[in-house]
Amino acid sequence: MTARILVVDDIPANVRLLEVRLLAEYFEVLTATNGPDAIETCENGKVDVVLLDVMMPDMDGFEVCRRLKSDPATSHIPVVMITALDQVSDRVRGLEAGADDFLTKPVNDLQLMTRVKSLVRLKSLTDELRLRASTTRNIGIEELLSRNFASEDTIPKVLLIDERKSSVERIQKMLRDRADLDVSSDPHAGFFQAAETSYECVMISTAFADFDPLRLCSQLRSLDRTRFVPIILLAEEGEEERIIRGLELGINDYLMRPIDQQELTARLRTQVRRKRYNDQLRASVTQTIEMAVTDSLTGLHNRRYLDSHLQTLFDRAVARRRPLSVMITDLDRFKAINDAHGHDGGDEVLREFARRLRKNVRGIDLACRFGGEEFVVVMPDTEGAVAEKVAERIRAEIAQAPFAIGQDGKAIEVTVSVGVSSVLKGVDTVAALMKRADLALYEAKSGGRNRVVAKAA
Ligand code: GH3
Ligand code: MG
Ligand code: MG
Repeated sequence: MTARILVVDDIPANVRLLEVRLLAEYFEVLTATNGPDAIETCENGKVDVVLLDVMMPDMDGFEVCRRLKSDPATSHIPVVMITALDQVSDRVRGLEAGADDFLTKPVNDLQLMTRVKSLVRLKSLTDELRLRASTTRNIGIEELLSRNFASEDTIPKVLLIDERKSSVERIQKMLRDRADLDVSSDPHAGFFQAAETSYECVMISTAFADFDPLRLCSQLRSLDRTRFVPIILLAEEGEEERIIRGLELGINDYLMRPIDQQELTARLRTQVRRKRYNDQLRASVTQTIEMAVTDSLTGLHNRRYLDSHLQTLFDRAVARRRPLSVMITDLDRFKAINDAHGHDGGDEVLREFARRLRKNVRGIDLACRFGGEEFVVVMPDTEGAVAEKVAERIRAEIAQAPFAIGQDGKAIEVTVSVGVSSVLKGVDTVAALMKRADLALYEAKSGGRNRVVAKAA
């Protein structure tokens, strides 16, 4: 894991101390000895994690953190606050300033590496999502990222897997009102429970009499549904080796027993906040991608999607010597429907048409709104004669029952004309295929509408 870490401390000796340890783990290290320099470095460079001293003259760490987190250009960079004393008030202030994590001086090596590695891993995930979102669509991405994703309105749903009753009771008491806590005392049952319910964090005790807790961690990481759930390991003093292996397996954080309530709630909160942020970012990316290829009126694919996929489907059919057919449908006298029932009435007809169209094609068929009142269906593995039957079925489905629109469910007679074509053996192209379907449609229109014409080979 290589990443660029910015170390900020007003005392050069402290900077060097952290620098040496990070370099030994093959991190790239940048340094700054005051707040403004640190902010400038974050604005200019590719910083993956900031280790930030709290006590600095002029601008203290809290202020630096606040500024980084309030600027959309730097707000996604994880910040670890380093507090001089193990002071709860500093930790709380740090989290309020938007810090992602905290460490106390003197900085313990294991803790340093845990926090940094876990944040680097998270950052690379976030970076990838940001990249994907921005390549999908340039507009909207800034707005997307500046939205406050880390909502903390609801208490998190958490699973504790721990077989020791006394430990469970203590944690239940600590998290009362702070988490919706489920408990599983059996690691196997706990695994299935984690897979079946969507938890926002899973806490795993290392103290099983007869089970390797790291096996559970690796199982959770390899299962699709639990791949992104934060895992906190509850370890015993002296289990450093195990924690290190846990980190390699992808646990997100750990706590040493005896567990401190303040620390437990802070670490849990940090993990949940990150998960919520990433979940929403991931959902936004998916939604953005879907929006780019979906027709918003009907929910069918749009023309852009058809243009990018028809060639693929065509090439595949030719390569496998399988048939492929397309149909173009065009509503008859649609202009008159708009004139009589208004644009909104027309839109309702289009939506109902799309619904009936979808009902009459198979899952592997590609149904798209081609534009206006024209739709295209691409049918893989379908001979012309079969495609013609499908087209006829759709035509009949439209003509036989009037469309009910408006509040009062006014009935409108709608008909559709359809042109069908199929891939020819020998030399053929997508453009020629579409052209033949279009010609067939034209014949259907000039032949009196409400009919199917096939140019099937
Ligand atoms: P034909 O039988 O020859 O196809 O006649 P037509 O009236 O259906 O054909 P024409 O292409 O002249 O008119 C299509 C109409 O579809 C014109 C346009 O205003 C309307 N239209 C295009 N897109 C939409 C839309 O999204 N919503 C609504 N309500 N109307 C649309
Ligand atoms: Mg038209
Ligand atoms: Mg029309």
